[in-house]
Amino acid sequence: MAYSSALQQPALVLNESWVAIRTVPVRHALHLMATGAASALDHETFQLYDFESWLECEVRAHDAFVRTVRSAIRAPETIVLARYKGVPIMLAPFCRKNLFRRDRHTCQYCGVRPSGTDLSIDHIIPRSQGGQTSWENCVLSCRRCNHKKRNRTPSQAGMRLLSTPIQPRWNPLFDLSADSIRESWSRFVRLEAS
Ligand SMILES: [Zn+2]
Repeated sequence: MAYSSALQQPALVLNESWVAIRTVPVRHALHLMATGAASALDHETFQLYDFESWLECEVRAHDAFVRTVRSAIRAPETIVLARYKGVPIMLAPFCRKNLFRRDRHTCQYCGVRPSGTDLSIDHIIPRSQGGQTSWENCVLSCRRCNHKKRNRTPSQAGMRLLSTPIQPRWNPLFDLSADSIRESWSRFVRLEAS
């Protein structure tokens, strides 16, 4: 686990309609619960717990927990906000890390998934032909395809993209490391985004 304590682990935040909107550290999630702004969601039973009833929940063997003076509190994995309906509509900013995520570390010409150093960012329309550095004009390419395509467009090189690249929607998990993403969130967000 990449986090030194359960208090720093991320918890998924759902709005009132159970739409995932962001993640916050467990410490912050417990604070939101303590002030009545959110309830914890038990992902096995889909029952909601307010702060008082959550404190009484038994910590099961596989649960992350927060130790207090008197007892242990289950670290909530997901909380539901009591009075917030909004959904932030955000698009992912273009950067190297997000491009690797969008293309799932896969060459967009042949579909291989080599180790990171064998993938590079390809400008579909080469910069020398006026191609932009953008979500729509950049894809991951393996060394072999890169070598084959050279400084040409796919049609000039007789190659074809596996899919049309677009700007991905931002996802609440974009900023998290892979080992902090919980399986129980799969009902609310696309886990493979990271
Ligand atoms: Zn390739």
